[in-house]
Amino acid sequence: MTGKTHFAFGILLGTTYGMQTAHDLSTFAGIVGTTAVASLVPDICHHKSKAGKLIWPISWFVRLLFGHRTLTHSILFLCLTSVLLYLAHVNIPFIIAFNIGMISHLVLDMLTPQGVTLFYPIEKKIRWPLHFKTGGIIDISLATTFSILTMYIFYQEMFHRIMNWLK
Ligand SMILES: [Zn+2]
Repeated sequence: MTGKTHFAFGILLGTTYGMQTAHDLSTFAGIVGTTAVASLVPDICHHKSKAGKLIWPISWFVRLLFGHRTLTHSILFLCLTSVLLYLAHVNIPFIIAFNIGMISHLVLDMLTPQGVTLFYPIEKKIRWPLHFKTGGIIDISLATTFSILTMYIFYQEMFHRIMNWLK
């Protein structure tokens, strides 16, 4: 899947989770931001990805050690990053937001023919029974659908709050 699709899905899930969890606008924005960034993190091993370009020395190092779509696309990596964030005293809702973003990435990459090494170091590639080409029409349609859904959820919530405020 393209970075755009991952990002759009991350924002959609972050918005949904943020609305359940956050009690103020800055926490909400923080949660959505965390989920959006986390949705790109697994591709740090890919030098052409948005995340990979941004922090290319780390990208280069991870790719050198593990290759593309291995460690960073696994449950092991999810656990490692969660422990690191916990040790860094990051608040639990933000660790959950980070996990949501990363899981959203894996779920979407499992829709591609290459699949992901979910149980790395076991090399077996895991994918859904249905899969689509990265950058193809389904990929682009998904990105658009996720963006429209986010706007719909966001505006519906705003509408509710304004109506409550007017009462
Ligand atoms: Zn990926």
